[in-house]
Amino acid sequence: MRYGEADRILHLYTPARGRVSAIAKGVRRARSRFGGRLEPYFRLSIELHEGRSELLTVTGAQTIDAYPRLRSDAAALDAASRACDAVGRLFETSEPHPGVFNLLCRQLGLLDEQAGADGPAAAGRGGALAFRLKLLLAAGLAPQLGACANCGEVEHLVGFSGAAGGVVCGACEAGSFPLGEEAYGFMTQALGRPLTDLPAGGDGALGQVERAISATLEHHAHVRLMPAAPALG
Ligand SMILES: [Zn+2]
Repeated sequence: MRYGEADRILHLYTPARGRVSAIAKGVRRARSRFGGRLEPYFRLSIELHEGRSELLTVTGAQTIDAYPRLRSDAAALDAASRACDAVGRLFETSEPHPGVFNLLCRQLGLLDEQAGADGPAAAGRGGALAFRLKLLLAAGLAPQLGACANCGEVEHLVGFSGAAGGVVCGACEAGSFPLGEEAYGFMTQALGRPLTDLPAGGDGALGQVERAISATLEHHAHVRLMPAAPALG
């Protein structure tokens, strides 16, 4: 965010201190000592001064990875923005979650690697949803998928209930919405595989997956995220 004449307020996600805000003084001057390093989606080694105010002050910054290709691909850039937004909303406190930091770096790295390709996979709706499922896992909110979240039945799982926190069986389906086999497969595979090994999923299945993630977050974290991908057309 621009601030005052030449300053900027940065929202940072850190491995040791979670989400923090810091002011970078003079960063918008042509000859700033930060020299264009404090830009969105940069991975940095940063020095922060902690004064009496809640806002930290940036005193030094070195680039670890600027993810330069990501910036030349509109789809990858949009996906990076949604990924950072999801992390910022779900992990908005100073509680450290180094696993979340690593996951975000991995996703930004993938978007950078795949940028310029025809429809980078990580930037698609499936890639964004696989990333969100792993965020749920890191937040301790992974949906229960192995058995009915209400009664424990392991067969005839037909729906998903945000309130119950996972899949539900035919007897417990009140208040749930249908979750087909393809969506179920996508969720179990995405949770069990690295981000690079993206499971396949058609539009209908991905729609159900996104609804399951949204319902889980609304019920258990009172958080609403941006849509996982831009609307088509
Ligand atoms: Zn049940």
